[in-house]
Amino acid sequence: MKPKNKFQKQVVDASKKLPVLTNEQIEWSKNNVIEHIGRRNDKGKITCTKCCHSWQGVGHLVDTLTDCNCPNCNSKLVVKTTNKRVFRTNYYMTIITACEGYQVVRSIMVKCTARVGKLPEYEHSEVMQRWIAPNGKYCTFAKLRQTMGTMYYDAWIHHTSLELRQENDIYNRIFTDVIYPRQKLIPELKRTGYKKSLYKQKPLDLFRILLTDSRAETLIKAKQTKILKRIFDMGWSRYIGNYWASIRICMRNGYKIKDATMWCDYIDFLQFFGKDLHNAKYVCPSNLKAEHDRYMAKKAKVETEQEIQKHLDKEDAFREVKAKFFGLIFSDGQINIRVLESVAEIITEGKMMHHCVGSYYSKEDSLILSATIDGKRIETIEISLSQLKVIQSRGICNKNTEYHNQIINLVENNISQIEERLVA
Ligand SMILES: [Zn+2]
Repeated sequence: MKPKNKFQKQVVDASKKLPVLTNEQIEWSKNNVIEHIGRRNDKGKITCTKCCHSWQGVGHLVDTLTDCNCPNCNSKLVVKTTNKRVFRTNYYMTIITACEGYQVVRSIMVKCTARVGKLPEYEHSEVMQRWIAPNGKYCTFAKLRQTMGTMYYDAWIHHTSLELRQENDIYNRIFTDVIYPRQKLIPELKRTGYKKSLYKQKPLDLFRILLTDSRAETLIKAKQTKILKRIFDMGWSRYIGNYWASIRICMRNGYKIKDATMWCDYIDFLQFFGKDLHNAKYVCPSNLKAEHDRYMAKKAKVETEQEIQKHLDKEDAFREVKAKFFGLIFSDGQINIRVLESVAEIITEGKMMHHCVGSYYSKEDSLILSATIDGKRIETIEISLSQLKVIQSRGICNKNTEYHNQIINLVENNISQIEERLVA
């Protein structure tokens, strides 16, 4: 497309000065971007598709082999047991460079056609460039993509020209994790403290935020990179504001955030309970895990209570249908199983066990029981009253426990007690 504004015109002009890819970059991609295949035939002979060397694999290990090093060229090979003789693979390489005052992220597709017994053929094609100005503005150059009759969003049409294109979310999905080690940076980016680590982010996103939001720069320079990465993962612009005041308190107090996921959850709890997020006493706990778990339990309790309050009006109806089963207890000396006797009890059970039994109070055909050992909840059991059998028994987070079969046996051995009450 034609440049539509001054910025785009300037970038188009600048793009004419961008050097072509170097041989060094292309060579690097052959050894570092492409995953070469070690083709293993049914007799266990392995052929390196990079250098043609072949050898007899030894012993039973070979059957489970998934990768190995070629004894001739020492390349790491992905082992594939197959009769196939031709392997066509595509990879992306990212080059981070600077040109005419812009930060440029170049995406090169590298293709390898490997035929068993022949040296591989390589092709490469630069398919996309992101041009970023020091103020964070950006535009994208790309080749056209095949959009009809393919499920791949990146089926590039290689003979089309790399030119300015309308932004498209597809461009943000192109794989950018394999980066050529020599990077060239504009001074504005260098000043932010960016070294080479992208914290598993897309270069375009990281660079734009570093260039426009001094908070990101502050975090890099303070070496608070765990929290930087976490907030990037959550969505920088949406979440940094929630945590920034507390992060500043941490930095001022020399408190390093090590488990950023847990710390952010913990700050959310503090916020829920209306604690002062500017107070180091709260935001810099010496035992984060303990404080996090304490508040998590506290919040679960509040939520359970709210849930119970909401369903108070359902207790009468519940009692009317299920009261005849109240007081039933089965025990084998180790495990105790009892019928839950109110909506509140069932909701609490669901919350404590992190499964969805909490909503089962309204199922007319179901009887909910709780299995415990020494008062500790083990599994929650649902019985179908019409079929007189266990439908499910679940431990914490829907997992089965080592007592699962013992619990089911115990219920089944006592099912006649339920039947007696059912017909009474
Ligand atoms: Zn080799």
